[in-house]
Amino acid sequence: KIPLPADLYGDRRNSAGFVFADEAVSIPFLAALEPELARTDRRASPLIGGKAQPGVLLDVRDPSTGRVLGRVEEGDAKTVDAALARAVAAVIPPAEERAAALERGADLLEAHRVELIALLAREAGKTLPDALGEVREAADFCRYYAMLARRHFGEPESLRGPTGESNDLYLAGRGPFVCVSPWNFPLAIFVGQVVAAYAAGNAVIAKPAEQTPLVAFRAIELLLEAGVPGDALAFIPGRGETVGAGLVSDVRTAGVAFTGSTDTARAINRALAARDGPIVPFIAETGGLNAMLVDSSALPEQVVTDVIASAFNSSGQRCSALRVLCLQEDIAPRVLQLLEGATALLRVGDPARLENDVGPVIDQDALEMLEAHARKMDRQETLVCKAPLPEGLTGFFFAPRAYAIADLDAIDREVFGPILHVVTFKADELEAVVDAINAKGYGLTLGIHSRIEHTVEAVRRRAKAGNVYVNRNMIGATVGVQPFGGEGLSGTGPKAGGPHYLFRFATERTFTVNT
Ligand code: GLU
Repeated sequence: KIPLPADLYGDRRNSAGFVFADEAVSIPFLAALEPELARTDRRASPLIGGKAQPGVLLDVRDPSTGRVLGRVEEGDAKTVDAALARAVAAVIPPAEERAAALERGADLLEAHRVELIALLAREAGKTLPDALGEVREAADFCRYYAMLARRHFGEPESLRGPTGESNDLYLAGRGPFVCVSPWNFPLAIFVGQVVAAYAAGNAVIAKPAEQTPLVAFRAIELLLEAGVPGDALAFIPGRGETVGAGLVSDVRTAGVAFTGSTDTARAINRALAARDGPIVPFIAETGGLNAMLVDSSALPEQVVTDVIASAFNSSGQRCSALRVLCLQEDIAPRVLQLLEGATALLRVGDPARLENDVGPVIDQDALEMLEAHARKMDRQETLVCKAPLPEGLTGFFFAPRAYAIADLDAIDREVFGPILHVVTFKADELEAVVDAINAKGYGLTLGIHSRIEHTVEAVRRRAKAGNVYVNRNMIGATVGVQPFGGEGLSGTGPKAGGPHYLFRFATERTFTVNT
């Protein structure tokens, strides 16, 4: 084994996966998965103090088929009040104990990977490789933040000062921290927020996305089983307008972590600003209008492989996903020709079947939004390619496609799904293209394909983006390796899975003694 640099990783390793092509592993895995995929008896309900609370019962449906998977009990204003009262009074264990519980949590997530992967495929429409990646990422967040909690939240840091004085700097939790998470990473991002807030010493109230309460509920059950105290971890599935808004506007809430749309982030920011009581941190990770720049020195085959992954993987439902491909005009014909061929080979269908590359989009609203955008593009721009959509699919399936657009003015906001926009530029326009992308105001991911170092460096200096990827795809940031988060319209900047993330959830106290 190659030793990892201790500084960066402690003694932690990222969660291991497997290759589906390795039949020695995948055949027994798929056999174990089958009964889990068929289940229709899942349940989720609010959890306060580790105990299930009653709520309004709703069906949860599979976006691929519309079939009912289980039922969720949704919380309301009363649940919010009870959870906050409990969280305010919670006694938070010391950093070492928190870290140990999170490490057990990571082990439990891995041990339940078959069940969680089935849930992700059925509830969130994730392909099996994506679902496996999510379970691993959730476990990685647990272990990474456990490592940071031990390193920074155990002993205070002693600071030098004048003789006759001791000075200690402590990091401490703030109180009830509300985590509002998205449906596109209903396990990884959900767990990531919750365990970061807890690792930093807060009591956590987790609100999952309305579309994906079942997998989130299982994750909370596993974290409680791992030893996170029930008082320090409440779970409230429910509507954004009631549960989310109720939590955010309550003065007992001591901080909010949110991943989702820019509009919702604005609404939360306004609600926090409008309330009385303490001024609290707001950690937001929102969307992106992510571009990839390709100059004429790039390798077309590699570009197309990375474009397909970046734009169409997870049905384009990643914040990091590629939305605007910018091709230098002399390489454009070759790239577009290969892109057309590669897109035609994509298989859209049941994400739980290994032969399919692209699953459904999350719900009817998402499908209608994408269809409306596609109609507008069909009228105004030129369709370059489109994946075939098999007959007989009943769920929210949308064929991945690409449009050549006249210029960057044709797209101003994030369209969350598998629609790629392509523009061309002349050799001397590269910097102007970077400026035009910056001017859109988002700043999440940016891809560059070029074999000219000087070009890569020029783009890096100019780009205002949180994650820049050179000569590879631009999705799937790895915990502890590619800290993830953007700027501007893309969020408030903290980097999930990075060494500074936990500090954003904490308060600092200086203790000075005249000795
Ligand atoms: N971390 C994910 C990635 O790098 C994206 C997260 C998101 O979509 O919010 O692809």
